[in-house]
This record gives sequence, C-alpha cells and structure tokens, in this order.
Amino acid sequence: MTAEEILHAHAALLEGHFRLSSGQHSSRYLQCAVALQHPQAAAALGQALVNGLSAHLSEAPQVVVSPALGGLIIGHEVGRALGIRACFTERVDGQMAMRRGFHLEPGERAVMVEDVITTGLSSRETLAVIRAMGATPVATACVANRSGKDSLDGLPLVSLVQPEFPMWSPEECPLCAAGGAAIRPGSRPAG
Ligand code: ZN
Repeated sequence: MTAEEILHAHAALLEGHFRLSSGQHSSRYLQCAVALQHPQAAAALGQALVNGLSAHLSEAPQVVVSPALGGLIIGHEVGRALGIRACFTERVDGQMAMRRGFHLEPGERAVMVEDVITTGLSSRETLAVIRAMGATPVATACVANRSGKDSLDGLPLVSLVQPEFPMWSPEECPLCAAGGAAIRPGSRPAG
C-alpha cells in the first residue's frame, strides 16, 4: 500500500464536512495518530520515509530527533528502519528542549522527523535544539507535508503525502450552503 492508502485505510485521512479547531470549515481532515496507533502501519510509514530519505543522504544518519508528541511514533519507526536511536524534544515552559537524559554527540548526523508539518514551527525549534547541542541536522522528514515546500530551514524535507485542505469560513463554506452540517473531527456524524 502507498502511504496515502495506509492513511485512508485507517481513516486518518477523512473526506466530509469538518469544523476545525480554528473555527474554519474544510472538506478534508487528517489525524495521523489514528493511523500511527497501528504498529504495522507506523512501521510501513517509517520505512517509506527512510526510502525517501535515502536519496538525500550522502552519509548514514546517526540519530533521529522528533518533537513530542506528534513526532514520537513515526520518529521511533524511522529509527528502527535505519537501525539508529530515536529521541525527542518537548516543550518546557513553552521552550523546546531535550530532557530525559537524551544526549547528542558533537557532529552527530541527525534526522528530524515529525508527523505533520504545517507551519514548521516545532520542527524548526527542534532543529535549533539539535544545533545547540553541537549535532548536525542533515535532513527532515514527515508523514504529511502541508507546508507547500520541499525544504525546511535549508534542509531537504521528505514527505509521504502532501494533502490539500480547502478551508472556508462558515459563512463562505459551500458545504454549509448546500445544507450540510459540519462535524468536529473525531466525533461521529449526527444521525
Ligand atoms: Zn461548512
């Protein structure tokens, strides 16, 4: 199965009429965690990312670093497929940091792995942590790339799907105009 088929098969990529947390309406919704809760699906997506990364890496990476929480499972699976360790950054008082005894070696080649990249804020903060620890980010990867770019912070950005999400205000939503009711993603359609 392709990555898109895996996401569809586990209902992580939904088509319908959704009210997003921003208040906007959309005809599509992505929740990677719904697919990543299945270890076989997570492993397949991790392997697919490693396949995509191989074209961008002249030397084998030595560590995967992911921002918590979204990047944890997919980062772990990329680490498994590469045969290297996978650690993570997390927010401490709003600041991205590396805790829990994780350590990066000076010059260590790191791949930053995230589940979904939209603005890339958490990803760039994680790259900053990697650099601050003296390690060297060599590439970035994510399951779903909504940034519209194929690079991040000057590094290659490998992704499996690049979903388009039409979004409208409720007043301008054509699905509302057609008489439909938007649902909160994760809730069951009424009736
Ligand atoms: Zn609507």
